[in-house]
Amino acid sequence: MNINYQKKLDEILENLDNTPKLLLHACCAPCSSYTIEYLSNYFEITILYYNPNIHPETEYLRRLNELKNFLIRFKTKNKVTLKEVKYNSKEYFNAVKGYENFGERSIRCYKCYELRMNEAAKFAKENKFDYFTTTLSISPYKNAEWINEIGEKLEKKYNIKYLYSDFKKKNGYKRSIELSNEYGLYRQDYCGCIFSKRG
Ligand code: SF4
Repeated sequence: MNINYQKKLDEILENLDNTPKLLLHACCAPCSSYTIEYLSNYFEITILYYNPNIHPETEYLRRLNELKNFLIRFKTKNKVTLKEVKYNSKEYFNAVKGYENFGERSIRCYKCYELRMNEAAKFAKENKFDYFTTTLSISPYKNAEWINEIGEKLEKKYNIKYLYSDFKKKNGYKRSIELSNEYGLYRQDYCGCIFSKRG
């Protein structure tokens, strides 16, 4: 049965008290744009840029700098800050060991989502956030069921609330393209890892 994750998110948002603290894992500026526009109405957000999958490091830095520049220019209702985790591609290669030759949307990607979301959940718990989530579900190329399944598992593992999401809903992906155009954001033509760069 397909779960409507946007509906689950709507239910959470309707029942929020005050302005909770959200740890938002983000992969790049375009995917963050709509997600921040939407969620900063409800949360004080810290973005966690943890993406050891991105290859090469110059590309990692390019995406990070684009995100930093976007955040300087983008006005939000509640505060949005950025936290970067030091780049170490070995963490990615260890996580996907044995699955390198699998294609996009395969178990290799599941492991990649899990690695990045695990770091976000751990960081959120250690730093007393109210919720954690990721921008990843905004992409039509990513598996929202897997992302939410991983989020649910991590919620139990770390005892930190996961914010269910499917950000491509409500025209989220379309809005991210509009914002990318409006702010002249760099939109990369491959997902991130060396395998997706090879095509
Ligand atoms: S294609 Fe994208 S999601 Fe899949 S392993 Fe590579 S970087 Fe991660």
